[in-house]
Amino acid sequence: MSRTQTKKPAKTQKTSNSKKFVYAFGKTTDGNTTMRELLGGKGANLAEMASIGLPVPPGFTISTEVCSYYYDHEQRYPAALRQSVADSVKSVEKQLNKKFGGRKNPLLVSVRSGARDSMPGMMDTILNLGLNDETVEGLADVSKNPQFAWDCYRRFIQMYGGVVMGVTSRTEEEEDPFHVLLEKLKRKVGAESDNDLTTQNLQTLVTQYKALIRKRTRGAFPQGVMQQLWGAISAVFGSWRNERAILYRQEYGIPAEWGTAVNVQAMVFGNAGDDSATGVAFTRDPANGEKVFYGEYLINAQGEDVVAGLRTPNAISKLAKEMPKSFKDLEKVRAKLEKHFKDMQDFEFTIEKNKLFILQTRNGKRTGLAAVRIAVEMQKERLMNVETALLKIPAESIDSLLVPVFDPKALKAASVIATGLPAGPGGATGRIAFTAAQAEKATREGKKVVLCRTETSPDDLKGMLHSQGILTSRGGVSSHAALVARQLGKVCVCGASGIKINYENKTLTAGKTVLNEGDYISIDGTTGAIYKGMIASTDSEVKRVLDGSLKPSKSYTYELFQTVMKWADKHRTMNIRTNADTPSMASQAVAFGAEGIGLCRTEHMFFEGGRIDYMRQMILAVDEVQRRSALKKLLPFQKKDFVGIFKAMNGRPVTIRLLDPPLHEFLPHDDVVRRQLAERLDVPLDFVIDRIKSLHEENPMLGCRGCRLGIIYPEITEMQSRAIFEATAQVLKGKKKIKVKPEIMIPLVGFRAELADQLKIVHRVAKEVMKKHKIRINYIVGTMIEVPRAAITADEIAKEADFFSFGTNDLTQTALGLSRDDMGLFYDEYQSKEIYNKNPFASLDQHGVGKLIDFAVDRGRATKPDLKLGICGEHAGDPASIDFCHRAGLDYVSCSPPRVPIARLAAAQATLRNA
Ligand code: ADP
Ligand code: MG
Ligand code: MG
Repeated sequence: MSRTQTKKPAKTQKTSNSKKFVYAFGKTTDGNTTMRELLGGKGANLAEMASIGLPVPPGFTISTEVCSYYYDHEQRYPAALRQSVADSVKSVEKQLNKKFGGRKNPLLVSVRSGARDSMPGMMDTILNLGLNDETVEGLADVSKNPQFAWDCYRRFIQMYGGVVMGVTSRTEEEEDPFHVLLEKLKRKVGAESDNDLTTQNLQTLVTQYKALIRKRTRGAFPQGVMQQLWGAISAVFGSWRNERAILYRQEYGIPAEWGTAVNVQAMVFGNAGDDSATGVAFTRDPANGEKVFYGEYLINAQGEDVVAGLRTPNAISKLAKEMPKSFKDLEKVRAKLEKHFKDMQDFEFTIEKNKLFILQTRNGKRTGLAAVRIAVEMQKERLMNVETALLKIPAESIDSLLVPVFDPKALKAASVIATGLPAGPGGATGRIAFTAAQAEKATREGKKVVLCRTETSPDDLKGMLHSQGILTSRGGVSSHAALVARQLGKVCVCGASGIKINYENKTLTAGKTVLNEGDYISIDGTTGAIYKGMIASTDSEVKRVLDGSLKPSKSYTYELFQTVMKWADKHRTMNIRTNADTPSMASQAVAFGAEGIGLCRTEHMFFEGGRIDYMRQMILAVDEVQRRSALKKLLPFQKKDFVGIFKAMNGRPVTIRLLDPPLHEFLPHDDVVRRQLAERLDVPLDFVIDRIKSLHEENPMLGCRGCRLGIIYPEITEMQSRAIFEATAQVLKGKKKIKVKPEIMIPLVGFRAELADQLKIVHRVAKEVMKKHKIRINYIVGTMIEVPRAAITADEIAKEADFFSFGTNDLTQTALGLSRDDMGLFYDEYQSKEIYNKNPFASLDQHGVGKLIDFAVDRGRATKPDLKLGICGEHAGDPASIDFCHRAGLDYVSCSPPRVPIARLAAAQATLRNA
């Protein structure tokens, strides 16, 4: 998904009287592609296409500023708008020599939504506007095709009735009422497709549609064309705040303030006969990125028909035979679009009586794999330079080169029950869910699901988000399912006509195979194959190359990965570290390109095997003597772990955090284990229970944890420091010369004195170990900045610290006064009210928490100019947060091992973006 911010916002006059609200495209064109903020993506690109001579039907765009005005002024419009719109309509009339509302040669228009970033299918569009009982006759006359005219009319009433007058299905199960009437009539007259309906049939349908509207709304379908136009404009602005649009914005972090533009454009007709068609095309394959012409079309059809999946469209290659001239024209457009926009384009076209029109273009949404491949290949083709190519790849896309794929061996053993169109690469296995609601429910129960539907609609979005993959039996590569899969990076197989889905019986049938809800199914979005049952997965090609089990030359995916990573490393200025607690995690991260460990949590080390007993013994100890004796037993384990990590990191920096979590986390909660523990420690059960009770805290996250532990039990800090330095000494003195320079990190510091207290212990132990082994150990000691007080007093704390690492999980919790584990009760409400743009634990709250970080960076460096700065919260793997870290001037980000490649790319993008 492209969310490129336009660099030069279009300037408009300041006073609201003279403000320009309406921008023309056509014979004269006011806008261009850089004006997305004002004209929306669709409007800006319609203008751009018109001005480079592509055949775009004329029209005009009402700017997003009007949308903002509309919502700021109780859904009223600026005074000057009415006249501007009237003038613009006149201008279109003049260009085409048609009349809006005219009996003789009526002008029809479409009224189309268009936000800054395309939000396909989320908002409303109305076609064939301007038809009424009179103009429909006029259209029949000029086209000499009454069937066509009445087809347009019934389409218009249907869309207008639904979108503007709210006549739609009232429950999730109910079908669209217009659609019901249409199907009923088709059945009655024995029409197979919509196109088989006669003029008379269509006239009957129009009468029925009008009656339906009257019955449902107690109002009439409006005959005045200006009334129609304003109704449609308001509906489009209104759709900015519909539920789907809000959900979509949350998913993609689009602010509510942006608003949508409205495009009013002269209609062209793909439904004017068999010499007419409509379609959608991509300049390259958006599923795998290959440079082939990709898309589909329908003869004698209009607008949404292709996407709606009611008729199965033809692959674009077939157009070469069916309409050779138009196909050639289309190929020319394809080349021109890529050359001009310098990116893969997703465009809409309509052929009216063998004449080609382009109705929309945008940078095509693509799967992660396609994003990488297209960027790499376009750079090779010199359509863009390396910097641009890097910025074109959403950092998260790298992940799709790393996700598991079906195990080739397991695949061979599996039975294919049907095949569909490969629309979202990768393999997905899960239980069948037939509705979005079921998918959501099953996922919440911890099950993996594959959402199986005849076709999907925008209302299924939430269910799709919860699914491993999406399977549809109808609809082509531009169907809703395919489109969303591309955007969400979901595995998708669509248009599998060999399967039948019965919602009532909850069955999926393919030949003789019948599967029920909850049964396992597997889909391969790379090949389109559908399998019964579960299929095991295996590592991606990239991972197999990295672990040496596949030759690099055997994998194009690896070549793509490697190319992008090399580019990224050349451009980024921040270092990428990882959060790893074990040697195997550390090695994985290094293979992915990690340059060090930014956070090694020591507590996980205490859970393994028999160690937990010593840990518990230490916690339950009544005095220092007992505690020391338990810690003594833990020491060799810790030391061994550190040796392993130092070796795995082979000289790269390692930051080790001393014990952090509240002690009760280590204690058993169930009676059996407590009893066993009492026996093993040879103490009465009551003693164990009492000690556990006495350690109870009301708010353990704000209780005795972090450095507070080391302050009340200095022997813990002592033991951990000793383990670190002993391990360092051992590795330094080992046969293989590995440099080790441990970085010791004290957690949850809020006062300089806390850090000073712990430092004393660390330094003392360091001296002891160095003396004992007669070597010099280079080490540094720093702290996490994870409570607001630490950030605010960073100048003082920096006096004691060699480095800061921002622990943004806790910093977010403490800054927002919000427990991450307890936001469930209100989070949904906050999302739907758009109070949080994004989950503050997934993407850094830059306005709030970010200010604390900026402040701490500033103050910390004022005290100590060479203070080393990093971040180790989960935000370190989030591209937007990484961009922030770059701007804040951090030296490194430290994320989980699998996110290291994403972070490398995101860090490079941050450098380029902020250069
Ligand atoms: P969306 O943003 O959901 O794609 P669009 O505004 O692009 O909605 O329009 C929906 C459909 O109607 C598209 O297939 C588009 O090509 C078609 N359409 C829009 N305007 C016109 C027009 N002026 N003439 C013919 N078809 C149109
Ligand atoms: Mg469109
Ligand atoms: Mg913390």
